[in-house]
Amino acid sequence: MPTPFRLYNTLTRKVEPIETLEPGLLRMYSCGPTVYSYAHIGNFRSFLTADLIVRTAEAIGWSVQYVTNITDVGHLTEDDVADAGGEDRMAKALRSKEGEQFGNVWDLARYYSEALLDDWHALNLLDPTLRPRATEHMRQQILAIQQLIDSGHAYETDLGIYFAVASFPDYGKLSGNSMAEQLEETVREVVTDPGKRDPRDFALWKKDEKHLMQWFSPWGWGFPGWHIECSVMASEYLGDQIDLHAGGEDLIFPHHECEIAQAESLSGKPFARYWVHTRFLQVDGRKMSKRDGNFFTVQDLIRPIDEGGRGFEPAAVRLALISGQYRKPYNFTFDTLKASTKHIQRIREAREIADAAAGPGEDILAGDLGNIYSRALDAMLDDLNTPEAIAAGLEGVKKILGAGGAMSESSGSAARDWLDRMDALLGWEGNASAGADDADDVLAEQVEKLLSERTEARSRRDFDRADAIRVELTEMGIEVMDSPDGPRWRRKLVDQ
Ligand code: AMP
Ligand code: ZN
Repeated sequence: MPTPFRLYNTLTRKVEPIETLEPGLLRMYSCGPTVYSYAHIGNFRSFLTADLIVRTAEAIGWSVQYVTNITDVGHLTEDDVADAGGEDRMAKALRSKEGEQFGNVWDLARYYSEALLDDWHALNLLDPTLRPRATEHMRQQILAIQQLIDSGHAYETDLGIYFAVASFPDYGKLSGNSMAEQLEETVREVVTDPGKRDPRDFALWKKDEKHLMQWFSPWGWGFPGWHIECSVMASEYLGDQIDLHAGGEDLIFPHHECEIAQAESLSGKPFARYWVHTRFLQVDGRKMSKRDGNFFTVQDLIRPIDEGGRGFEPAAVRLALISGQYRKPYNFTFDTLKASTKHIQRIREAREIADAAAGPGEDILAGDLGNIYSRALDAMLDDLNTPEAIAAGLEGVKKILGAGGAMSESSGSAARDWLDRMDALLGWEGNASAGADDADDVLAEQVEKLLSERTEARSRRDFDRADAIRVELTEMGIEVMDSPDGPRWRRKLVDQ
């Protein structure tokens, strides 16, 4: 009996085996970012959960249809209260210091979508089957809203269209009714539309002729509420019923609760069977968030030191972010990032040894490595227990390093196969092509040139010159380690 793939389902509040609607095919939707700024590593913690679900499902032979969106419509800063009050996030970003470089909100959204994809690839996240954008699905959103009005689930006021929560008795089933009641309390104080029938009713459309991003609808110019895009794009590409829906814990309420209300009112069928939520990445015990300003972007961490970054390898950032299980809050520290950097170096060394193996002799690794892979996979199948999967993986790396430089070709082949399988499961070796960007290439070229000059100076016994080159490299943020095979180098780790 193979181990079932089990995940914690927020809807049933239990860890459950995933049974897909169609055997062997997982249809999943994961909420993407709003592109009004760079995504931070907290956002990526949530995206990585989706990535690991896909990798684990594929490791047991399932096919996956994986859709994740880009929210390129400016939603409101207080969208988490049902009136959709506050200020438009994109418009606010445009007026900020960072936003000065953009001519308009469309350019701003385009720029940050591209930045998102760069970071996505740098952290070696798999590309989804589809990555739809909210702005490209306006017609579908308008049609869905009209359908909700026609079927009595929505109504119009002077200011917009609202979903009538009272028309959907299951409202609150995901988050628990207490949260919905809490919302009622909060909303009572901030209601801005006196035409609303029930304080819980949430916006599907806001009428606004002055808004920076507006579309024409049967209700005049305006823009959609935040929740409708995901219901619409999920059903457009995955069908009315999907297997799994993922996002960060802050999306449980109201976003996902509202998605369920909309989708199930539209189709009359249960929407997603499994709801998977990632707990927050924290800094000093507080949620990492754009609003609080206590965040690191991927670029903050991976950009070279001489360009103002911290010079970490993207693979180390990824490993640090997945080193805590998704279902527990996780405190981000530079110590973990440094430990991850060391692990990545060992993984790379293991890969080098395996690639170089050419000697005669028996395979002494396949048996142990096979067991270790099964343990790592079982850990991932057990509600994505990444700490255990990584620990098992590092044991395998140790075995390969222990087998050493004189590895037989047959052990090398077993090691390569194992490394490939572990990499497919965890994505931990990183995305070589994304890492080798132009800036990296130029840096590598400079470093190699200086190192060969240094070797040459040493052979002339010109130690003053050799030392001067080492100082120059240190100033460039490069650490040189002399080894029997000649000098090796890496970007120096910095302290926070
Ligand atoms: P947003 O751009 O705010 O819509 O967020 C995109 C995704 O990142 C959502 O799934 C959020 O729940 C998630 N998210 C936001 N902040 C964090 C955090 N600190 N840790 C983990 N996930 C987060
Ligand atoms: Zn969503």
